Amino acid sequence: MNITKKMLEEEIKVLQAAAQLHANKSIDQYREVLKVLEELEAEKHLLEEKVKERTLHLERLAKYDTLTNLPNRHMFKEELELTLKSATLLDKPFALIFLDIDGFKEINDTYGHHIGDILLKELSNKLLLCVREGTDTVSRLGGDEFTIILRGLNKVKHIDIISNKILKYLHTALDLTSDIQVKVSASLGVYIHEHDNNITVDEIISNADIAMYEAKKSGKNQYVYFDKKMKSLLSKHITLKQELTDAFKAKEFVNYVQPIVSAQTHEILGVEILLRWKKNTKLMSPAYFIETLENMDLILDVTFWQIEAVLLSVKELNKEIFFSFNLTAKMLNNSKIIDFLIRIKQHCLVKPSNIYLELTENDFAKDIQKTKTILQAISSLGFKISLDDFGTGYSSLSYIRNFPIDVLKIDQTFVKGIEKSTKDYKLFQSIMSMGEILKMDIVVEGVETKEQLKLIDNKSFVKIQGYYFYKPMPIQEFISIINLID
Ligand code: C2E
Ligand code: CA
Ligand code: CA
Repeated sequence: MNITKKMLEEEIKVLQAAAQLHANKSIDQYREVLKVLEELEAEKHLLEEKVKERTLHLERLAKYDTLTNLPNRHMFKEELELTLKSATLLDKPFALIFLDIDGFKEINDTYGHHIGDILLKELSNKLLLCVREGTDTVSRLGGDEFTIILRGLNKVKHIDIISNKILKYLHTALDLTSDIQVKVSASLGVYIHEHDNNITVDEIISNADIAMYEAKKSGKNQYVYFDKKMKSLLSKHITLKQELTDAFKAKEFVNYVQPIVSAQTHEILGVEILLRWKKNTKLMSPAYFIETLENMDLILDVTFWQIEAVLLSVKELNKEIFFSFNLTAKMLNNSKIIDFLIRIKQHCLVKPSNIYLELTENDFAKDIQKTKTILQAISSLGFKISLDDFGTGYSSLSYIRNFPIDVLKIDQTFVKGIEKSTKDYKLFQSIMSMGEILKMDIVVEGVETKEQLKLIDNKSFVKIQGYYFYKPMPIQEFISIINLID
């Protein structure tokens, strides 16, 4: 085939057109890629912004309390660390106040968490008004616990002024909603840091916390300065807690019983179970350990053990009597008690109506609604409830009437002076008639003399527990006494 010039020129044109087409296509594709790239870039930028925002948010979360906007525990500790360092370097004193709201839990339980939150916010604002902006730091550690670092202290008197101001500011009525007004107070523990170069941040916090507990213990709504003696008391308390845990494992607790007699016939109708601790060769009285034990979860196990052990050991008894056990507020906050009592009802020979559970008025007052519900459950299982140490607590007649109480145990302080003072005797009689009006059985505690006994009505609903008749004794001794009587 002869290739002419014309043919070649045609061929070149075709090729040029194809090349153009290809080039155009590449440009389009390129543009498209560029567009995607631009979009990606914008998206990346947006993402980066979001990450930045999120990081800031997380940083804030890590450092500030979301409810009150105050520095949180983490940031507070960082601040305290810095304050301690500069105090050591420049030899400048500072103070730490540990603050806990009194009765916050009750407000939370009564009105709900939402109201509790409003209260915390209001209180944080009040606290900020009590300190110097930029110099002092108010933080929220969580719950109803706050701390305040006071820096640049010229005089210790300054701390008194601020602490008093805080107490005064917090203890005013607050409108939380249009119809809820509360008035709270706070307990403050103050630690002053002066020249102790070896102390750590955690020790400083713990010292202020210990002082705060002292403030609570000595009546709340006050501030207390940390003192080294408090620490040794605390370490004794911690040692005692450990010893009690070990004592229970080593079966060192012993049940004593004290007979309760009829005021009319003086025959034994029942016993109160009283705890003793065989520590080495000594028999420790509850006065030494019961307050600590009652604040430990261990009290639940100990009481369950007491009830089971006593009810088991009385199989040899040839008389039907009642058994009265001491409970504490802690046990009412725990649904385990109901399960336990159901088991006792199913497996024990002693019937529930012969099992009394003693609670003090102060145990009742902790959370009235919850206590009422749990006592109703106990009562509907057939167990009896005694109001112990009656007359020494906060009870008002109205709520005694509303609780399923079977027995009033009149505290021994009312019996002490009846034979010497007419005023004491009148008081005692009015408490007795209160029980009679409420149609409850009465146990008069602490009767020690014949003279006291003479002054107590020997009505059918009155029983007596006191050294005049019997002192607390080991359960085996009691079994032999009662089996001998019958
Ligand atoms: P409480 O429940 O009021 O127990 C009565 C206390 O009065 C007992 O002291 C008893 O020995 C004492 N007592 C009885 N009659 C007389 C008397 O005529 N004169 C005098 N001066 N005292 C008398 P105890 O055994 O030392 O117990 C003291 C407190 O410790 C009890 O007071 C109770 O609150 C607590 N407690 C004792 N045992 C237990 C227990 O097993 N569990 C719990 N949770 N608390 C217990
Ligand atoms: Ca008692
Ligand atoms: Ca009592």
